[in-house]
Amino acid sequence: MGSLTCCNMQEWGEETLLSLSFGETARLKASEQTGGDKTMENRPICDAHVHIFPEKLYNAIYEWFSSRGWHILFRMPPEKKREFLQEMGVRKAFLLVYAHKPGIAGDLNRWLRDFSAASGGFFYPFGCLHPQDRDMGGIVEKALGEFDFCGFKLQLLVNRVRADDERLFRAYEELLERQKGVVIHATTYPVEEEFLGVKYIEKILNRYPGLKLLVPHMGLYEHHIYEELLREYRGLYLDTAFIFGNKRFPAPLGELKEMMLRFPDRILYGSDFPILDHDPREAIRAIKGFQLGEENERRIFWENAQEFINLRL
Ligand SMILES: [Zn+2]
Repeated sequence: MGSLTCCNMQEWGEETLLSLSFGETARLKASEQTGGDKTMENRPICDAHVHIFPEKLYNAIYEWFSSRGWHILFRMPPEKKREFLQEMGVRKAFLLVYAHKPGIAGDLNRWLRDFSAASGGFFYPFGCLHPQDRDMGGIVEKALGEFDFCGFKLQLLVNRVRADDERLFRAYEELLERQKGVVIHATTYPVEEEFLGVKYIEKILNRYPGLKLLVPHMGLYEHHIYEELLREYRGLYLDTAFIFGNKRFPAPLGELKEMMLRFPDRILYGSDFPILDHDPREAIRAIKGFQLGEENERRIFWENAQEFINLRL
């Protein structure tokens, strides 16, 4: 098994992204790239954590990871990625894009609107913004108003800001006003940075207690604190992205299973597809292997996602 050998931020052109270095990993065989798997078909699945970008931007991300030793398995056009998900039994997906630098959110959000519209309702779009965007108000208004996105995705690891950065307040206030949600990568998993951490999420929840907030990666490695917050804040949810079926980042699986049993109505299945060096079907199998019970599985794989979109607090 490979190991996390490096977790510093490094330059990606003029931008920064996380840098991880892995050993060998198996590539998906070409015959497995089509997704079809009969075992997944008997349950409707909503994948609450999917990243599809315009092809040029995704290829740059792919090359960036590949040049640092990752073996990202999925490189196909955006439409093929949707087909892959559908063939593995995914019926709906949260489509999360993020802006890695200021000035691109407008174009990226327009692309997201068009791509989602062409998917015939398969994708629930979550737009992007960058804390340094000058026209923050305009971007927020357009994304939540004219484009009617389900909410925003904030990638704080890439943006290098804290969740309680006041430049983000405008977005939080509009989200709250419109009862839409925000997905915030704020966890110290898989990479720790000083501007990540549950303490900043707690400040936001304190300030905006009714905010619908989805935190990826089940809140690792601060999941015990997230459990307390789940009890306190009804709008807080967690997703399972990148954890299950992922042999490279060992996680406390037993503890996470117990958490799923304690909060089956607050945890959403998500994969992180296609920025993965493991097969998302492995994640589904791993969760299914917990034998959480039919009702809990239905909540985690489907209903909680619908609820997150539609919840009125
Ligand atoms: Zn992600």
